[in-house]
Amino acid sequence: MTQTDYKIYIDNIIRRVEAARLKVSDHHIVKIVAISKYSQSDEIKRLYEIGQRAFGENKVQDLRAKAEELDELPIEWHFVGNLQKNKINNLLDLRPALFHSLDSLELAYELQKKLEARNQTLNTLMQINSAYEESKHGFMPEEASEMYAKIQKECPNIILKGVMSIGAHSEDRALIKKSFETTHAIYTQLSHATICSMGMSGDFELAIECGSNMVRLGSIMFNR
Ligand SMILES: *Cc1c(COP(=O)(O)O)cnc(C)c1O
Repeated sequence: MTQTDYKIYIDNIIRRVEAARLKVSDHHIVKIVAISKYSQSDEIKRLYEIGQRAFGENKVQDLRAKAEELDELPIEWHFVGNLQKNKINNLLDLRPALFHSLDSLELAYELQKKLEARNQTLNTLMQINSAYEESKHGFMPEEASEMYAKIQKECPNIILKGVMSIGAHSEDRALIKKSFETTHAIYTQLSHATICSMGMSGDFELAIECGSNMVRLGSIMFNR
């Protein structure tokens, strides 16, 4: 694809996001984070040149490698993957703009300890396992609000900004919708939450209609 064709292709995705958000409200603004985990630095650069600024990775070592390779660009890096305890310091070295996937109280305490020692803070989302899937990480919907408040109280270096969820792994749109609604309902009850991160390449319009204001688009943004 030429760069001109790629721009037209991306404009079309932006138009789809636009149409979905306008169904919610004129004032409902949605941010696109391009998930570059299957893409190389030259492809990230290509998308950057069209205007995309926020990119996300799901492995600390990949985030480090790409952030280094693209060091000259003022990219806003997000981390969306499962964070292992032994990788916390490596992630904090990279000072990501937002950590989407705080998935347990144990991780919160470990993260707080490291942040405090480094005199650093981290913008963070609490991951919700809204479809109750064994294969997924995150807090269960029933405990989410209470745990959110607990982390706010006990982990002052973790700056909670809202919630993140992956839609139900299903072909059934009603089930996916239900999982988004569950996450959004939790989001609206939290204090000081401004980010509801949900929606991927296959379900972002539905997620936006359910109230998402941050979509994480991987394959579609890189035309895979
Ligand atoms: C890979 C990934 C995405 C993007 O997935 P696509 O279906 O390629 O858009 C979004 N969120 C998380 C947490 C991911 O790991």
